[in-house]
Amino acid sequence: TAPLSDVDPEIAQAIDAELGRQRGTLEMIASENFVPRAVLEAQGSVLTNKYAEGYPGRRYYGGCEFVDVAENLALDRVKELFGAEYANVQPHAGAQANVAVMTAFLKPGDKLMGLSLAHGGHLTHGMKLNYSGKFHEVAAYEVDAETGMIDMEKVREQALAERPDMIVAGWSAYPRQLDFAAFREIADEVGAILWVDMAHFAGLVAAGLHPNPVPYADVVTSTVHKTLAGPRSGLILAKEEHAKKLNSAVFPGQQGGPLMHAIAAKAIAFKIAGSEDFKQRQRRTVDGAKTLAERLTADDVTAHGVSVLTGGTDVHLVLVDLRDSSLDGKQAEDLLHSIGITVNRNAVPNDPRPPMVTSGLRIGTPALASRGFGDAEFREVAEIIAEVLKTGAEHAEDGVPAAELSALRTRVEQLAADFPLYE
Ligand code: PLP
Repeated sequence: TAPLSDVDPEIAQAIDAELGRQRGTLEMIASENFVPRAVLEAQGSVLTNKYAEGYPGRRYYGGCEFVDVAENLALDRVKELFGAEYANVQPHAGAQANVAVMTAFLKPGDKLMGLSLAHGGHLTHGMKLNYSGKFHEVAAYEVDAETGMIDMEKVREQALAERPDMIVAGWSAYPRQLDFAAFREIADEVGAILWVDMAHFAGLVAAGLHPNPVPYADVVTSTVHKTLAGPRSGLILAKEEHAKKLNSAVFPGQQGGPLMHAIAAKAIAFKIAGSEDFKQRQRRTVDGAKTLAERLTADDVTAHGVSVLTGGTDVHLVLVDLRDSSLDGKQAEDLLHSIGITVNRNAVPNDPRPPMVTSGLRIGTPALASRGFGDAEFREVAEIIAEVLKTGAEHAEDGVPAAELSALRTRVEQLAADFPLYE
């Protein structure tokens, strides 16, 4: 019954300091978000105490009547949200959902064709150190060197040449929408399973701002904690015909007891994702990213060698291209960090700089939209980032003057103060 601050003051202090960091800075990592208080509450609830191996109504433990309510609500809500026949909400994270899909549909040695990690794909889509790449043959497709976009005709040619058993459509760093109908046609042409990993853009799909992959794909996976703004976790959607093998791939295939506190929190997030307020938030998210892309492609910025991959964005993130700038990805990330804006450096396709340095930044708007940012605030953030990238390039050798950084930091603090978090 003793409070955390008495039981473990060091951890209490780390949590407190992290809350302070989240409140005082602007979070622009594209895969992050702020969950509602109700989600925090469910995750800190007594549901964490319960073992519930199995599925609702078919558990291997007694006393599951209340966690069954939570899991059934999560299942019903997520199926309704995305128009899916089947759902599994037990994967502990996105990577676990993806392993379950691969083990359900592929044998070791089968061929997987996904977007290359270096071109915006995810580790779990065939990277050689990941389960996906260790146990499967991999044929990665890439974005077009000129446009930065996925060229579906090239994907088709490669699929015809490689004859993959499974094609993955999905990304961690790509600023445009995917053509699911074209992916479906290609998969049918070569007899491959089509798996869509919508981890990044699931929130946009729920809000009707991005095409829904569910009608096209054999199976869809997602995380719940990115644009969807729920607890850190994963999910799987599919046609009913795949239910048995997917359920079995998750449990007992690779997981034991489900995290019932996280599943209850997912149910809450899916409920919220069906609301008008959530739609508006996703709208502000995409509009904010567009505002940022426009600002970073204006003449005064491009004059410093800074541009944006594909020339803009249709989603919740912008990929800044610093290949022609004297500022590299690491320097840009550090400069933004020093004034209170958190982003991650990101390799651009065919990046000339090493992976720990890179020539790009991935900047996302979901967390700030959840914080309440609208048009005016995203304009101000875009202005601040443009200033940092310009002045950073000018002073790549001698360092940006402290006074300039301090003035920018004050503007960031003002924005953070105007939108209080968890108060
Ligand atoms: N799939 C995609 C496309 C992702 O971007 C990510 C996370 O970055 C994942 C899967 C993995 O999710 P998790 O970190 O929850 O394992």
